[in-house]
Amino acid sequence: MNHILRGMDRGQNFRFFLANTTELTEEMKAIHQMSETATAALGRTAAISAIMASMMKSLKDKITVQIQGDGPAGRLILVASSTGGIKATVDHPEIELPLKTNGKLDVGGYIGREGEMIILRDLGLKEPYVGRSPLVSGEIAEDFTYYFATSEQQPSVVNLGVLFDKDGRVETAGGILVQTMPDIPEEVLAQLEKDVASMPTFTEVAQNSEDPTERLRALLPSFELDCMDEMPVFWECDCSRERMEQALLALGGEELKTLMDEDETTEMHCHFCNTNYHFSQEDLLRLIQEVNG
Ligand SMILES: [Zn+2]
Repeated sequence: MNHILRGMDRGQNFRFFLANTTELTEEMKAIHQMSETATAALGRTAAISAIMASMMKSLKDKITVQIQGDGPAGRLILVASSTGGIKATVDHPEIELPLKTNGKLDVGGYIGREGEMIILRDLGLKEPYVGRSPLVSGEIAEDFTYYFATSEQQPSVVNLGVLFDKDGRVETAGGILVQTMPDIPEEVLAQLEKDVASMPTFTEVAQNSEDPTERLRALLPSFELDCMDEMPVFWECDCSRERMEQALLALGGEELKTLMDEDETTEMHCHFCNTNYHFSQEDLLRLIQEVNG
């Protein structure tokens, strides 16, 4: 089971969230038949979104991340719930780009370097809380670091990674978020900055060890870290035939009649999990009668 490990340093000057989202990322790759670059983009976004969702208080709280850059990916949408469920979709999952000159996947080229990230937090209030920030590089971790700094005034370290084996399967995926407390003493902050400056990439660390404690030690070697709890993370799409019926009902009687006359079966598609729902003419007639009371 994938999870997020949460904790603090012994002095309680910063908190950390370590995400292991390997299986979730492999599942997203299979559902959307994604290229490696697309998988890296969605995988990185899933890890940080799952971390952000784990900070939410109520079980019904949800976070929606929309990334719209000027690259070939099109729009990326990811929904993470505080219970750990994640669903995601991207307009063009199949597109593969050549590796960058440093041998890494070109996630920034795929997403695009110009664009916007919109983060909606649904806290069960009338209106969701909306945060917006421009993309910095399209490489995801930098974009979220910038978002935390500007939109939430929260200095943060974001280190995300997705690594593939030679057969193209996701070998490891996840990341770490570190956020400082407002009253962190200067010498602790300096030490933390030193660790961060020489921090290896998440994939380097994850490649060397599967053990979360060892991963944390490799990422933040100067600190004693206390783990507090562990939250599950898993793929979950909440679509259903009932929800599709609600969407059809919202079209109104006339539109439903047009659909009914056009085809023997009307197909409704869930973009998150690629499930198709079929409605026969009889089904539509029943819905029309429902609309007309
Ligand atoms: Zn679905």
